[in-house]
Amino acid sequence: MRKLASISVDLDEVPRYAAIHGVEAPTGPGARAVYQKCVPRITAWFDDESIRATFFAIGEDLERQENRRIIAGLHAAGHEIGNHSYHHHYDLTRRASADISDEIRRGSTIIEESCGTPPVGFRAPGYVVNEALFGALEACGVEYDSSVFPCASYYAVKAAALGAIKLRGRKSSSILDRPGVLRAPREPYRIGQPFWKEGNGLMELPIGVTPLQLPYIGTSLVLGGDRLANRLSRQMLRREFINLELHGFDLADTSEDGLEVLRSHRADLHRSAAEKLRSLRAAVRVIRDAGYELVTLEEAARHFKAKPNP
Ligand SMILES: [Zn+2]
Repeated sequence: MRKLASISVDLDEVPRYAAIHGVEAPTGPGARAVYQKCVPRITAWFDDESIRATFFAIGEDLERQENRRIIAGLHAAGHEIGNHSYHHHYDLTRRASADISDEIRRGSTIIEESCGTPPVGFRAPGYVVNEALFGALEACGVEYDSSVFPCASYYAVKAAALGAIKLRGRKSSSILDRPGVLRAPREPYRIGQPFWKEGNGLMELPIGVTPLQLPYIGTSLVLGGDRLANRLSRQMLRREFINLELHGFDLADTSEDGLEVLRSHRADLHRSAAEKLRSLRAAVRVIRDAGYELVTLEEAARHFKAKPNP
């Protein structure tokens, strides 16, 4: 049996992190550190280890010609470019259905304009999904989604963080998913009604969760250091499919990238980009040594779509 794993990278730019924490975005080059600094660090790693991955781009960010060129370069290098919506509204699922479709279509159009091919995959802002969003994705001809994140500890931490931001009298742009998401499958499935049940709908590739319900995402790997990255990765080896989601921001470097304004809000900014990269490399080594083949999410979606339902 083929064992597949995918790495995806969400390209949320620095001002969106400032908005989550309710602080002023840095001005100057720090505001563009994800595209300018983090993407080159990530691609140097991918090139070195012959990894092809999926990058989820926010449409609005591609209005900058520089970013368009970067996306086109990633696509030309064999990476997949996925749609992360046009504006990255955290409350996308609460908007009118025409607005939801518009966000998907505009995101798709600008990616097609940037690299010549329309995206086939979607990742929802903040991992928040609902039936209206899945309906719109299917109507727009999207082939797969990779946003469902059935992780109890992540859910609890996010709920607490949003509460704390509110208590400090600040406003966060982020919102919570419905708790039903925690009942969703941890392996690829077809969306049903409600979305956390299996059905015949869109192909879903859920974000990684370990059997002990820890989030298997870049944030936990870069925060926990090499040993934890190693341990979490070994726990994932029971999965049929490993879906490791990173953010470009995971490889941000506070001093090199001019991100001091965010440092007190984010523990990950207390580690250097080099240290964080070492942990990510350690994690991916475990996966590869166990015989997993690294493919783009598009390839993984096609593989699981072709598989008969159990
Ligand atoms: Zn995002």
